[in-house]
Amino acid sequence: MTNRLDGRIAAVTGAASGNGRAIAEKLLADGATLVAIDLNPDALASVFGDRPEVLQVQADVADEASVKAGMAKIAEAFGRLDILVNNAGIVKFGTFEELSRAEWDQVFAVNSTGPFLVSREAYGLLRAGDGDHTRAIVNITSVEAHIVISSSGHPQIHYNASKGALLQLTRALAVEAASSGIRVNAVAPGFIETPFTAEALGKEEVRNWLLERTPMGRIGKPEDVANGVAFLASDDASWVTGTTLFVDGGWTIY
Ligand code: NAD
Repeated sequence: MTNRLDGRIAAVTGAASGNGRAIAEKLLADGATLVAIDLNPDALASVFGDRPEVLQVQADVADEASVKAGMAKIAEAFGRLDILVNNAGIVKFGTFEELSRAEWDQVFAVNSTGPFLVSREAYGLLRAGDGDHTRAIVNITSVEAHIVISSSGHPQIHYNASKGALLQLTRALAVEAASSGIRVNAVAPGFIETPFTAEALGKEEVRNWLLERTPMGRIGKPEDVANGVAFLASDDASWVTGTTLFVDGGWTIY
């Protein structure tokens, strides 16, 4: 817990569960005022209750009208935004030959198009942000944007491709946004214990294989991801843009 985000307005998508929830709690603990965005309003309400420092916004990041309506609520409440974390994402498994167009589109809509829409609609608010500090977009990609872990027994070509697209969105937007004082970075988690990975991590052979394969010898926690995000969101990273911070216990070393 620090005060390095005191006075900052931070929005986190997918804030009601897993990594997003931990990111939201970490940004709050570091002093930020939070906009918690999620598809699921009941989950948002049960996680954040009626905490005054949290504005809950129900929105579907894959739906343009919904994103616009969500950003209008932030504009009305604060008139600016200092930190945006594009965390909402979905995972689907399936072999390439059986992969339907609909499922491919769904994964891209949430994991790649979602961060594009949210960032574009938030851009004016970020430009209006606290000029005493750099403003930051942090995109949650995955080690799967860089490597393919098909040996886990879970082929997911659409997920790999969608996170690869988000990686390049991060790098390209970093160039364009730099002159506005907005930094754009990615955090690439390895396997993290969340509802997203519960099924895979529930299998003993998968868990053992992961532990053997991870130099740090443990599965990641959402708080590990959150700590990386908080660094990139803060002025501690004021000259860091267009890069990826791997939070993977060393998985991608090999
Ligand atoms: P999770 O399923 O626990 O939480 C995802 C949250 O996003 C949920 O609250 C869900 O309601 C919300 N969400 C889903 N679709 C949405 C939409 N269209 N609009 C708004 N909100 C939506 O998942 P998680 O494990 O916390 O994953 C979060 C992010 O971390 C994802 O982008 C995922 O790809 C990434 N990631 C996770 C892992 C891991 O091992 N858990 C590893 C690498 C990357």
